[in-house]
Amino acid sequence: MIGLPWLEAAGRQLRDQYRQQRLPHGLLIVGGSGLGADRLIQWLEGVLLCQHPDRAPCGQCHSCNLRLAGNHGDLLHLQPEGKGQQIKVGAVRELVSFSQGKAQYGQNQVVLVQQAERLNLAAANALLKVLEEPPAGTYMLLQSADPARLLPTIRSRLQWFRCPAPPVAEGQSWLEGQGVEQAAAELALALADHQPCNALMLATEDFMSRRQRCLELLRGQIERPSPNLEVLTGLLEQEPAQVLSIWRPWLADAARLAQAGTSVPLRNTDQADALQSLVGRYPTAALWLRLYDAVEQLRIQVEADNNLNWQLLLEQFWLSIPREIRRTA
Ligand SMILES: [Zn+2]
Repeated sequence: MIGLPWLEAAGRQLRDQYRQQRLPHGLLIVGGSGLGADRLIQWLEGVLLCQHPDRAPCGQCHSCNLRLAGNHGDLLHLQPEGKGQQIKVGAVRELVSFSQGKAQYGQNQVVLVQQAERLNLAAANALLKVLEEPPAGTYMLLQSADPARLLPTIRSRLQWFRCPAPPVAEGQSWLEGQGVEQAAAELALALADHQPCNALMLATEDFMSRRQRCLELLRGQIERPSPNLEVLTGLLEQEPAQVLSIWRPWLADAARLAQAGTSVPLRNTDQADALQSLVGRYPTAALWLRLYDAVEQLRIQVEADNNLNWQLLLEQFWLSIPREIRRTA
């Protein structure tokens, strides 16, 4: 079993297809780790490689042991080399020659391309040639949370398999089963767009207190704009992507409140009072949209570049807040 209740039926469906020899050799798994796509894929690799097809993945045979040790000769993983990086053609050539080999342990060969939307054009074209005629005995798994960014020719060569998201109540009870209290589980799920595995990471005391601090600082700068940059010291120690991932949905909530009034559902469910009082004070939606855009631009920069000057970017954003308030007043 995969260990994630909302994926069990999906997993069984894939395994049944495999046992009935109906599983296509090119499969696009749509979803990210927030939904548990990585867990589903690990399990499927086990199904395809286990030496006991009737109870695969048995977790005990030689093949399962090698796989669990991360050392299976019939399994190849490809992923971007680093944050913001692409998958290049050299890596795909390796994959192509691997896929033309023979399984060493009697079952299949499996190649997995993680974050397949990051294949660059040359790499995607090289992969396409294999997907057009996958070698017998080789399963090509592509994983992507953003399949719209894949080449259309690649997309159309693969059978799509979308990781299902659990109904809210099921995600909630799974989180509670992991030891998260009810109120924290509700908030974490809303913040994580109802992706339970991400929600579990957010539901820690450590994250929630950092989030509180980030939101207090931003709120303070909006309520009482100040050129003082010393308050940013605490933020500089935090992961830039995380700070931005806290601010972005909060500003989106503020923009929604300013545009649509109090009836809209908020992601930051615990911030309703604070947001309403701020939006009451600055009711112009344009302000919130501009601040949201500024944070979104920062997020794109942070995602694309490891060497950027976070302090400088953060200070520029901070000082732009009073300007935006004056401009939209
Ligand atoms: Zn096994």
